[in-house]
Amino acid sequence: MGEAAVELEDVEMAYAILEPHYDAVRDFFADTVPEGASEPLSKVRQTKLLVDPVVRNSERHYAACRDDGLLIVLAPQAAQLPMDTLVAVITHECGHATDFLSPGRFLGRKQGPAAWVPSDAKKQGRIRRMWSERTDDQIEWDADSIAWAVTGKQIRYCGSCMLQCFSGGRPRPEGLR
Ligand SMILES: [Zn+2]
Repeated sequence: MGEAAVELEDVEMAYAILEPHYDAVRDFFADTVPEGASEPLSKVRQTKLLVDPVVRNSERHYAACRDDGLLIVLAPQAAQLPMDTLVAVITHECGHATDFLSPGRFLGRKQGPAAWVPSDAKKQGRIRRMWSERTDDQIEWDADSIAWAVTGKQIRYCGSCMLQCFSGGRPRPEGLR
């Protein structure tokens, strides 16, 4: 796509724009008590933001979440996204972080909010095993399903780059990377 090189001051400016949005979405997750749970999702408050152009390895990649759930990386170019796109992107990544920080505690649904699995559930061992054997598509759908359970909003995919959005677009298609 031939984007200009990202300078250090661009990264600093991107932090100034991205960090307040990131903090607001992450704190919303951390303060939420999922339906059926007894405590809020406080673990996600440990999840740190890194702004780094390394994540921008394709036209539609603006963000990623490390698989321990403790780091979300946003590309500095995300600071130029429309605000509702940016918030939807961060919300999707916080869905991943919550998922990775609470292995098998959410049962994702492809077209609905994820269900909280009580810690004393008999099926928890089996759910945890299924959780660790998910496909890449299932992991993506689960991030959106958890985000739906937390925010009450369905993340959808809009535009030619199929970026996250909250209205219009369509549910995440299979194979989207
Ligand atoms: Zn994802």
